[in-house]
Amino acid sequence: MNKINIGIIGGGAAGFFAAIEIASLNPSFHVTILEKTEKLLTKVLVSGGGRCNITNACFDTDELIKNYPRGNKELRNIFHRFNPADTIEWFESKGVQLKTEKDNRVFPVTDNSETIINLFLQLTGKYNVEIIKDYSVKEIEKSSYGFILNPDSKFKITFDKLVIATGGNSRPEFYSMFEKLGHTIIPPVPSLFTFNVENHPLEGLEGISLEKVKVKITDTKLQQEGPFLLTHWGFSGPVILKLSAFGARLINDMNYNFDVEINWVPDVNDIMKYLTDIKSNFPNKIIHSASQFYLPLRLWKRLVELAGINEDLKWTETSKEKLKTFSDILTANRFQVKGKTTFKEEFVTAGGVSLKEVDFKNMESKICKGLYFAGEVLDIDGITGGFNFQSAWSTAFIAANGI
Ligand SMILES: Cc1cc2nc3c(=O)[nH]c(=O)nc-3n(C[C@H](O)[C@H](O)[C@H](O)COP(=O)(O)OP(=O)(O)OC[C@H]3O[C@@H](n4cnc5c(N)ncnc54)[C@H](O)[C@@H]3O)c2cc1C
Repeated sequence: MNKINIGIIGGGAAGFFAAIEIASLNPSFHVTILEKTEKLLTKVLVSGGGRCNITNACFDTDELIKNYPRGNKELRNIFHRFNPADTIEWFESKGVQLKTEKDNRVFPVTDNSETIINLFLQLTGKYNVEIIKDYSVKEIEKSSYGFILNPDSKFKITFDKLVIATGGNSRPEFYSMFEKLGHTIIPPVPSLFTFNVENHPLEGLEGISLEKVKVKITDTKLQQEGPFLLTHWGFSGPVILKLSAFGARLINDMNYNFDVEINWVPDVNDIMKYLTDIKSNFPNKIIHSASQFYLPLRLWKRLVELAGINEDLKWTETSKEKLKTFSDILTANRFQVKGKTTFKEEFVTAGGVSLKEVDFKNMESKICKGLYFAGEVLDIDGITGGFNFQSAWSTAFIAANGI
C-alpha cells in the first residue's frame, strides 16, 4: 500500500512542530517539509534575542487569551488541548531543560535558540521527515486525489494532505495562493513595533525607563499600562509594543501618524489633591529638585520645566493654575507619533487567513478538505513574551492530531 503523503509548506516553528507530531503519531505517513529558503527555522534562531522565548508560564486560559489581540476566541478552545504547560512538558520530555524568568517568559536554560533548533532537527531525523529546501510553493492545485504543488513547473509535487505553515507576511500577494483555493484573507498589517517621536520635549533623556506608565492613543479608547522605555528614536518598552499590537489595524489606518497621551503616574487617583497636599505639607521645598511619585529626577525636572515652573520656585509660590498645568503634564502628556520602528523586536503580522474558514477542532479548512493551517499565516497574533510561539505550537499540534 502506498504511504499517505503529507506536505508541510514552511520550515519554521509551526511547520517543524507539525511535522514532528504527525510523523511520530503515525510512522506510516511520509511527511515532507518544503522550505522556500535555504535556511530552516530562521525566526526561531533570532527569536528572543537569540535565546528563543518558547512560551509564557501563564496557565490560566482566561488570562492567557488576553494576550492575543486577534484569535483569542478561537485559541480558547485549542488551549484546552495544548497550552503553555503542555509546551513545557513537550520540550522537557524531549530533554530540553527550561527556565521561567520572573516576568513568566520561558527559555531553554542554555539561553540559546540553537538548543531548540537542534532538537527539531534531531526529531525530524528520528522520524524520517523529509526536508526539501529552496522550494518555494507558488501555486497549489486541488485535485481529486489531493494537492499538486507548482503544477506548471517541472518540480511539481503531489500530496494527499497539506499543512500551510508559511508564517505571516505584510505583503498581501503572499496570501494569493490561499485566496485561489477559496480562502478569505484579512489584510495583513504589522504588529509589535515601537513609536517614532521626533523633536519631542523629552530629548536628551534617552535610556530612562519606568516600571509603569499608561499610554493612550488620543481620541480613541486604546490605552495600555506597563513598563516604558525612552529611546533615541521615540517610545518603546512592553507598554508600547502592547499598544501597537492592540492598535495594529487602527494605527495602520492612521498611517502611523497619531497623538499619544502619557500618564506618568497611573497609580495616583486624584493628582490635583496630591499636588495640593505636597504644597501644604512642604511649602518651602523647591519643586524642581525633589522628585515625587518615584519618577527619575531627570524626567521630573523636565516635566516641571514643561509646566513652565521655574527652577527655583517653591511649592508655596505656585498658583492653582500652575498646579493644574503640571497635573495635566503628569497625567496626559501629549506627543505626536510619526512612524514606527521594528527593531530586533518580536514583530509579527496581524491579519492572514480568516479564522471563520478554519475548523479549530482540527485546523482543517472548511472550504478545501485536506488543507490544514498552523502558525502565523492565520489571523492570529500575540503580544511579546512567548505568546506567538505558543499559538504556533498549539495550532500545529491540533493540525497534526487532526491529520
Ligand atoms: C526578531 C523576532 C523575534 C521573535 N521572537 C519571538 C520569541 O522569542 N517568542 C515568540 O513567541 N515569538 C517570537 N517571534 C515571533 C515568532 O517568531 C513567530 O510568530 C513564529 O515564528 C511563527 O511561526 P510560523 O511557523 O508560523 O512562521 P515562521 O517561523 O515565519 O516560518 C514560516 C516559514 O515558511 C517559509 N515559507 C513562507 N512562504 C513559503 C512558500 N511559499 N513556500 C515554502 N516555504 C515558505 C518561510 O521561509 C519560513 O521559513 C519573533 C519574531 C521575530 C521577527
